[in-house]
Amino acid sequence: MIRRHLTTLALSLLSVASVSIPGAAYAQLPRVGIIDFYGLHKITASQVREALGVAVGDSLTAMAMFEVPSRLAAIPGVASASIDPVCCEDGKTMLYVGVAEDGAPTLELRPPPTGASRLPIDAPWTATRAAEWDARSVAWFLEHSGIRTPIARDLFDSVIRGLFCGDLNQVSFLNLLMLVRASGGFNTLVSITGGYQENLVVGGAGSIARCVADELGDAVRLNTPVRAVRQQADHVVVESAALTVSARHAVVAIPAALALEIAFDPVLPEDRLTLYRHSTAGPETKTLLVYDEPFWRAAGFSGQSAGPKSASEVTIDSSPAAGKPGVLASFTFGPIAEQYDALDVGERRRLLLAAMVERFGPRAGAPAEIIETPWWKEPWTRGCSMAHWSPGILTKYGPLLRQPFGRVHWAGTETATISYGAIDGAVRSGERAADEIIHHGAHGAAQS
Ligand SMILES: Cc1cc2nc3c(=O)[nH]c(=O)nc-3n(C[C@H](O)[C@H](O)[C@H](O)COP(=O)(O)OP(=O)(O)OC[C@H]3O[C@@H](n4cnc5c(N)ncnc54)[C@H](O)[C@@H]3O)c2cc1C
Repeated sequence: MIRRHLTTLALSLLSVASVSIPGAAYAQLPRVGIIDFYGLHKITASQVREALGVAVGDSLTAMAMFEVPSRLAAIPGVASASIDPVCCEDGKTMLYVGVAEDGAPTLELRPPPTGASRLPIDAPWTATRAAEWDARSVAWFLEHSGIRTPIARDLFDSVIRGLFCGDLNQVSFLNLLMLVRASGGFNTLVSITGGYQENLVVGGAGSIARCVADELGDAVRLNTPVRAVRQQADHVVVESAALTVSARHAVVAIPAALALEIAFDPVLPEDRLTLYRHSTAGPETKTLLVYDEPFWRAAGFSGQSAGPKSASEVTIDSSPAAGKPGVLASFTFGPIAEQYDALDVGERRRLLLAAMVERFGPRAGAPAEIIETPWWKEPWTRGCSMAHWSPGILTKYGPLLRQPFGRVHWAGTETATISYGAIDGAVRSGERAADEIIHHGAHGAAQS
């Protein structure tokens, strides 16, 4: 029955994690991502050992290491994806804030917000100072952060704007603390080594979804958006234009802005509607500049650069591990993304390429390809990178995020505790929703 739900909601039940092989010399293993769409607990350590043909304490031969991905992928219910480390942290990082400061060794991000470590991760709205923090905005926090130099202020502002992609007056400070807590610390959020930017999925993040879709086969229906969810006494009917699915429970794992467009019967209560109306994912444009090779490395540059409020607020080297082509990923966030998006495409590209040339030299002005995605205009995404909440919403309506509505359960990265906002959080939320149905499935009246 749950499998039927996956017709529209397949991605919610993914699990992506590095596998550990207890007892085996796994430090020798290549980095392998395991995708187990029913939850990691379904793969036992002995299954993994059996697939690899190793006993506890065994070392892997070079040949066995070579075969690891395909052998693990052969375990029923597992698809594998390779993960490449992002290159490179050892070159020079450039900071452009009005004046060029070539060669700045690190991006100084001080002070990180305090208070996050004490936040209850499952219910940040219950913290002793939650009401006070939720009444304040992230803009207030920046104003009172004690950062005095304009350059540092601009940089800190753009980094935090990059996390929320919105007007920071409209983001609750409690929301920032929640994000930091969910990520294991501010530095994790913004770092490459040991942080969120450490790895690239080979073939792009979408390849994970493709791996899982291959496993699910016909159960995945593309281009079949759900338009209505009708709850009956003992089942739920999920309707799209071309397909109707009846099941005992449904998991809704889509951004709030899109959930508001589904007709629920019974209708969603006013408090949940208020929560969703204030769940905003903001503007972000990501532009990939593709070159024949990552030429900046030879010049000693990492590919990381920051130019708050410019046509390229942040760049990072996104070249594949194979070394070719060279790819720079460039971003603009929130109101700055909107500001550049309002320009005609020719002018926007001129400004972007001028910024690249200024930072990385003349070769940066002639990419073979430019792939620009304004993510907030993607009809099935509507914003980056996850929803945030304005002041006063989380303390009042936050408890509804994961609370079932009758037979309807909620997943998606916004409902995550650990890794809220990231793919990992989305995966964990799917597991949590599945667990809710499997272990606590009986629900009565449809109310939130
Ligand atoms: C530019 C950008 C860069 C990012 N970088 C990273 C990163 O480096 N690392 C990281 O961990 N995270 C990153 N994120 C965030 C990450 O993409 C999200 O956390 C994650 O995709 C959330 O997963 P989800 O399943 O909650 O929602 P989504 O990925 O939004 O999935 C929702 C799915 O539901 C479908 N859908 C919507 N409406 C309906 C409907 N009515 N019926 C049926 N299906 C519907 C959509 O088509 C979509 O496939 C990034 C996001 C963006 C936009």
